[in-house]
Amino acid sequence: MASGPPLSPLPLADAAPVPGNQLAETPLPAPRPMAPLVDSHCHLIFRNFDDDLDAVSARWREAGVTALVHACVEPAEIPAIRALADRFPELRYAVGVHPLDSGHWQSDTVAVLRQAAQADRRVVAIGELGLDLFRQSNLEEQLQMLRPQLDLALELDLPVIIHCRDAAEPMLVELRSRGASGRCPGGVMHCWGGTPAEMEAFLALGFYISFSGTVTFLKAEATHQCARQVPADRYLVETDCPFLAPVPRRGKRNEPAYVLSVAERVAELRGESLEQVARASTTNAHRLFRLSNDVV
Ligand SMILES: [Zn+2]
Repeated sequence: MASGPPLSPLPLADAAPVPGNQLAETPLPAPRPMAPLVDSHCHLIFRNFDDDLDAVSARWREAGVTALVHACVEPAEIPAIRALADRFPELRYAVGVHPLDSGHWQSDTVAVLRQAAQADRRVVAIGELGLDLFRQSNLEEQLQMLRPQLDLALELDLPVIIHCRDAAEPMLVELRSRGASGRCPGGVMHCWGGTPAEMEAFLALGFYISFSGTVTFLKAEATHQCARQVPADRYLVETDCPFLAPVPRRGKRNEPAYVLSVAERVAELRGESLEQVARASTTNAHRLFRLSNDVV
């Protein structure tokens, strides 16, 4: 959507709970930012969005989300993601294989990803790819999927969306050795949950840092420190929905509109306005994913 009525903050009265109605939905945080937001990482093809995706999209538009980047965990998802991009013009997507999806890795997977990326200009990244040693310990197997996808990103001149859990060290070893020979693609560390020192190492390699609902969690002190410390031109915000709903919806199904809660918490931690955070994170997402002008 390139144009539309100017956004104005919701009047406070709209944000108050409906008196006497115990079942009223918790209202979205108000006021919404003047600058648009980008949900830089979401998953909407899961069954739990089957019934109400129109309402979900109405809420993200109401919350000021003007672009979304849909992640991909394995190639069989691509037709469904592409269909969503047909349905929602503000949606862009990545193609890739998640480190915990080694069961879906085939000898022709790179060719399938390449073909999908070249066939559709709405493919803006390769991912999500990465390393996850929290749930599994098959590091070698995960590296065998990671490396060809990093090569593919370089070949296609696309950024990567990196999932990295309990694996900062081996990921840094891999990316640094590539960086030394000029073969490290650009990209984003999605759903950031590492330490400030790890963040600095990924920043030094040129990566962006993306904050999700975990930044709203009370005990996520390392993530809070990262949000304070990250340079204004190097961070994004995301939901990773349907997972990781931010406070005050923790434990519920997450959805793109709630990226506003993530941006609010980042603003609070940085001592900045919501407007500043919306503007910075959206500018950064546009730069990283080269979102075209028809996506505001
Ligand atoms: Zn994801």
